[in-house]
Amino acid sequence: MLYYSSRNKNLTSTSSEAILRGIAPDGGLYLPESFDDIKVSLENITNMKSNEISAEILSKFFTDFSNDEINEIINSAYNGTFENDDFAPLSKVGSKFVLELYHGPTCAFKDVALSVLPRLITAAKKKNGINTETVILTATSGDTGSAAAHGFSDVPGTKIIVFYPAHGTSAVQEKQMTSCPGKNVFVSSVDGNFDDAQSGVKKIFAECRMPKGKSLSSANSINIGRLIPQIAYYFTAYRDLLKTGEIELGDKVDFVVPTGNFGDILAGYFAGKIGLPVGKLICASNKNNVLTEFFETGRYNKRREFHITRSPSMDILISSNLERLISLTYGTETTKKYMSRLAEYGEYTIPAEELSLLTEKFAAGCCGDEETLITIGNVYKNHGYLMDTHTAVAWNVSEKIHSENKTVILSTASPYKFSGSVLKALGEPVSDNEFEMIKRLYAITGAPIPPSLANLENAHDIHSDKISKDDMQKYVLSCTEANI
Ligand SMILES: *Cc1c(COP(=O)(O)O)cnc(C)c1O
Repeated sequence: MLYYSSRNKNLTSTSSEAILRGIAPDGGLYLPESFDDIKVSLENITNMKSNEISAEILSKFFTDFSNDEINEIINSAYNGTFENDDFAPLSKVGSKFVLELYHGPTCAFKDVALSVLPRLITAAKKKNGINTETVILTATSGDTGSAAAHGFSDVPGTKIIVFYPAHGTSAVQEKQMTSCPGKNVFVSSVDGNFDDAQSGVKKIFAECRMPKGKSLSSANSINIGRLIPQIAYYFTAYRDLLKTGEIELGDKVDFVVPTGNFGDILAGYFAGKIGLPVGKLICASNKNNVLTEFFETGRYNKRREFHITRSPSMDILISSNLERLISLTYGTETTKKYMSRLAEYGEYTIPAEELSLLTEKFAAGCCGDEETLITIGNVYKNHGYLMDTHTAVAWNVSEKIHSENKTVILSTASPYKFSGSVLKALGEPVSDNEFEMIKRLYAITGAPIPPSLANLENAHDIHSDKISKDDMQKYVLSCTEANI
């Protein structure tokens, strides 16, 4: 199967090229040419392990790779790196279900895809006869950097360089990065804020000439190799509902997704396209509610105030993966037009009479920090279930939207990753020592601490580089040259 650019149907690539390129040459995002031949049958799904479901989906989308190669990729991505066999366990909480996507090495849902992507890149290079070393460069405000460092750690033929702002990540996030093992992992703080680190990285991508035998790449969420691995857990959730007799084969299920860059929820849309009985996909946002307005009115407007919230991984004004949905729904020419409007004027609007094409599948809602904390407190009081702030946004939105189907809420981070907010939600005092708060949250609730967080405080710091923002390019070149 070939992939085309969301802005030009004739600009195609094989699946392995699309993974290596990340973004299409015209700035568009890669999409599969057709979903018709890649239906996943639900008949046997209750007998399948999560890894098998994931492998089946991956081999349908990435036809360049053999089944053996895909199995090897999935097994090495998940076995031993996640807390248990099932990378996405489902919990019943009241009358809803919570899909826990945070049992990976950094306790956030990005682990699910970032454990697979590096191995796909390595296999794709082999397919295309590329022997260069791939240097992955990323700037992070927290979650992506640690998940990328752990995902690429010791993956042959790659190096990963992570820049994070010296002030701006949480102590837990910083420690997850500075203690990440792997000979090919380079982590440095940059004296500045996230925007400084991000602009520095963009500049390096635009200007930096790599030495012979090395190539620069990014692990950001627009890579099709990050999107497709996320489809699997929609199927495993459905499988688990079937197994426990909560639904019958063919019943529709709604999914509520705490959304930032629109990758997680788009994977749910893809799941529906390949045969999963998806009811509504409910897009949940925090106070940065650009997507809520979009689904309600058709207007996407990024020229608005940016809010820093208690669900920081959803603090975003441009949800890149939305472009894929626009392209699948309205075609490549229209997408090209909207995207150039977005770049030039900061907004575009879908005519009211065409919006129903989206709203027949999608609904949207949002909530602020206060409601987020109240939700955490209420769910804990009523059901004894502890959730993080991102999950709480989704739970809150799910209560505002009426549905007849069973509802699955995607839980994207461990409550222990946001202990301060969770303690506050429970009416407990907060301190400025995150590790102390983790212990206190455990003492109060008894909810199990993920092993990787329990041991984190005493983990050995492997990376201690600190650089000035003007030295980022120099740092990248010296890491690139380093013999590992
Ligand atoms: C990245 C992230 C999200 C948002 O996911 P998108 O795919 O960007 O929509 C939500 N919650 C957490 C904890 C995240 O790290």
